[in-house]
Amino acid sequence: MFSTAIQDFVEQKHYPVFNPQAVFFDMDGVLFDSMKFHARAWVQALSDVGIPFTEYEAYMNEGRTGHSTIDGAYNSLYQRDATEQEKQNIYRLKTSYFETYGPSPVMPYAHELLSLIKSQGLQIFVVTGSGQASLIDNLQLHFPEIFQKEKMVTAFDVKHGKPHPEPYLMALAKAGLNPWEALVVENAPLGVESAVGAGIFTVGVNTGPLPDEVLSRPGASVVLESMKDLYYKWTDFSSLWLNK
Ligand code: MG
Repeated sequence: MFSTAIQDFVEQKHYPVFNPQAVFFDMDGVLFDSMKFHARAWVQALSDVGIPFTEYEAYMNEGRTGHSTIDGAYNSLYQRDATEQEKQNIYRLKTSYFETYGPSPVMPYAHELLSLIKSQGLQIFVVTGSGQASLIDNLQLHFPEIFQKEKMVTAFDVKHGKPHPEPYLMALAKAGLNPWEALVVENAPLGVESAVGAGIFTVGVNTGPLPDEVLSRPGASVVLESMKDLYYKWTDFSSLWLNK
């Protein structure tokens, strides 16, 4: 499965090789099992200001910055962007609802996978649209040996959030790598779009309620069902370019 996917990807992109030296992880729904709380918090915050929004929409919008999600909801209902004040108000509401759910649990097998990748000498970055200090603190708390500030791209670093390729292009720049020297692990359609737009081989892990097609359609080369699945396949997968 991986071998054919890599071959197809390299041919299609006319890349000289496939030789990842870094793995870029999305955060929500990949490293933390946090998406159900985000989805609920979005529905609650938008409902407080009279805007209908479903959890399904929250999953489909995952990866956007908060302000971009709010603009999207305003455009569906009012055909205009939200004002700066509306955005701040709703994002504050959303953040406070999210925090009522407490710290998000680490995704099963995330720690094991990160440790395995680190032991192979590969670099690890997190690339997230989140600008929530609580989640970013959580990342440093749970994975202190993996993520330092310079190994993160967050909502604070970019002008354009996902699905724009800027976050993943910035990760490539921070790592000093070409697109064929990295790979991405993403759970959301817009995250996949962003990674594929940056020219990077993308593994979808479908940890939420959406069908697999929403990850393969925007260009995920492989779609797996969980981080556990990726952990158990990682050694075979990475042997396709390591120790060659
Ligand atoms: Mg995600």
